Amino acid sequence: MREATAGARGGAAAGETASEARFDVEAVREDFPILHRAVHDRRLIYLDSAATSQKPLAVIEAMDRYYRMHNANVHRGAHRLSEEATTLYERARAHVARFIGAAEPAEVVFTRGTTEAINLVANAWGGANLRAGDAILVTEMEHHANLVPWQMLAERVGAEIRAIPIDDDGRLELGALDRLLDRRVKLLAFTQVSNVLGTHNPVAELVAAARAVGALTLLDAAQSVPHMPVDAAALGVDFLVFSAHKMCGPTGIGALWGRRALLEAMPPWQGGGEMIGRVTIQRSTWAGLPQKFEAGTPAIAEAVGLAAAIDYLHGIGMPAIQAHERRLTRYAIERLSELPGLRIHGPLEDRGGALAFSMEGIHPHDLSTILDRQGVAIRAGHHCAMPLHERLGLPASARASFYLYNTESEVDALSRALLQSREIFGLA
Ligand code: PLP
Repeated sequence: MREATAGARGGAAAGETASEARFDVEAVREDFPILHRAVHDRRLIYLDSAATSQKPLAVIEAMDRYYRMHNANVHRGAHRLSEEATTLYERARAHVARFIGAAEPAEVVFTRGTTEAINLVANAWGGANLRAGDAILVTEMEHHANLVPWQMLAERVGAEIRAIPIDDDGRLELGALDRLLDRRVKLLAFTQVSNVLGTHNPVAELVAAARAVGALTLLDAAQSVPHMPVDAAALGVDFLVFSAHKMCGPTGIGALWGRRALLEAMPPWQGGGEMIGRVTIQRSTWAGLPQKFEAGTPAIAEAVGLAAAIDYLHGIGMPAIQAHERRLTRYAIERLSELPGLRIHGPLEDRGGALAFSMEGIHPHDLSTILDRQGVAIRAGHHCAMPLHERLGLPASARASFYLYNTESEVDALSRALLQSREIFGLA
């Protein structure tokens, strides 16, 4: 892997830290073929990276190369291609482990993504450890992926779901922990960065509070791992989950990281090939970590793509990417705040690049349709966070979300398109 400070796109000059380094966004854009296409005869302005990111050529080519040169099933065949595929697949696991600060690759379980990783923990850990009368604590800003699996588990075992409320700025009301966090809580599952409000949650404080009552923590890092340096061990959480497709990698793969002792104590979730030790007609024994949790043929080409995405992001440097997105988000907040009738939801500072807003008099769906005609791709709806929208008193919101390839001129185009939508609706 290239060193973070030596990246061709974001290397630090003398006297600069990596995060302050000049970030050559135009060079970054050259790496993403899709950014050169037009939509409705306009230049594409892609502001929906919180839903899924675009993919650089390095990822597309790595997957193409895999299928052209190395394709075979992993961990099975005693032939050359299978050995190569297995090496690439396990190399991807080692890449992920390094990228998120895991103690060892065996603590990284490949899943289909964040959603499947949470379902794995809910079923394997939750099924074995949660009893009637126990509680799971989440927050009001969770994505449905970090809510519904816990509801299903709670219903099955007779447990209770509690939620930390948010204040009007979209930050967690930590004062409510006194009331919500007691010894009945066995797990605190929360997002590091909100996919709607962009809120950065105070991981260290939440982990310390959970530990004080003996609860484990699961960190939904779907909106953090793609955008900032994340070190699972340093954060002190017990489980961490994320998806490749939001970090320049392919769809269909993501990961669960968990502490070895926890993963070892958990029963498997899905059964089948790859995850067994010995099988008889009546019963089976399980493979060791991480295979115990990877039943069936895994997403091999996708693992190769994820490794290429990690190389790509690492080559630029996560601090440089974070600094670029911070600047851009600050600029977007400034520009959008000038627009009449526009209300930004969530904190205005110390936040991620997902920016939800409402335009008075225009439904978010109409807004996104009008913007689409200008080539500007934003998202409208509840963004898989219905309880959060209920708390905000909104049926839906519009959301622009930024990534390493977005520019100030794209923010300007967003702002112009929003003004035009007001004209179309006859608003002053
Ligand atoms: N958690 C958060 C915070 C998200 O933003 C998302 C996706 O938008 C998910 C979980 C679910 O991710 P996936 O659909 O890749 O499983």
